[in-house]
Amino acid sequence: MVKAIVSGAAGRMGGRIIHMIHQNPDIELAAALERPDHPAVGSDAGTSAGIGELGVPISGSLAEVVDKGDVLIEFTTPEATVANLRTAVEKGLAVVIGTTGITGAMLEEVQDLAKRVRCVMAPNMSVGVNVMFKIAGLMAEILGPDFDMEILEVHHRFKKDAPSGTAMKLAQILAQATGRDLEKVATYERKGLIGERPKDEIGIQTWRAGDIAGEHTVLFGGMGERLELIHRAHSRDNFARGAVRAAIWVVEQPPGLYDMQDVLGLKK
Ligand code: NAP
Repeated sequence: MVKAIVSGAAGRMGGRIIHMIHQNPDIELAAALERPDHPAVGSDAGTSAGIGELGVPISGSLAEVVDKGDVLIEFTTPEATVANLRTAVEKGLAVVIGTTGITGAMLEEVQDLAKRVRCVMAPNMSVGVNVMFKIAGLMAEILGPDFDMEILEVHHRFKKDAPSGTAMKLAQILAQATGRDLEKVATYERKGLIGERPKDEIGIQTWRAGDIAGEHTVLFGGMGERLELIHRAHSRDNFARGAVRAAIWVVEQPPGLYDMQDVLGLKK
């Protein structure tokens, strides 16, 4: 039985992950944590997640509970993720990182630390989106330069980072499949007299509204026809289920940095 520590336990994803762990006979909730001054610290993680008391109090720091688990599931903020990953590396804890918006020097540190433990890091843990990652690159390759490529991501009003990690991963896949440098060809917004669309451009647009769990569209626009690849998450449960699947998988792996394509066996 895999013992999981859920970080960000009182957050939107943390609650759904605790729910999915509770339904899965191969994994149990060993500990839960939040930032030290969070009002949920001391309360029961199951009650906070809406599934009734589990006898697991929410702790205010990873250091207090690190010895209780085999794997840390981290869906928090970039700052918290880096700090908790440092502790996990010291203690040899496996890690699943779902946090998005980690960029620059912080991303370099996370990638470096993550290789020293068993770690799955993925901006989107849903099975459907990971199949989309695989197909999007193939479509870009087949359709070639005559088709313009645009990405649209739509999320709830509370999301803190933009564009979504999933949209950025899709953009990287499209750029790689067509031999482009994403830094040079990405366009995030358009306004005014912008002129004709440059041939190599990859557009990445963001909408934020209401409680939308997550939608991603890749549009391939040709002359006289277009193709659209769309993924719509109906709730957060598909991400939570994927995170739990990754946690059970990663504890059996040798040290290294993995993604959901590894977990789902899509790299063949
Ligand atoms: P959220 O509701 O804001 O939850 C994040 C939780 O982490 C909050 O309760 C937050 O507390 C807590 N937190 C902050 N600092 C912490 C610390 N030092 N230690 C422990 N917990 C801490 O956000 P969410 O919607 O659950 O999303 C969390 C992250 O997961 C985001 O980056 C989001 O983009 C990402 N995400 C990834 C996937 C995927 O499949 N990979 C899917 C959905 C979301 P406060 O609110 O008090 O700061």
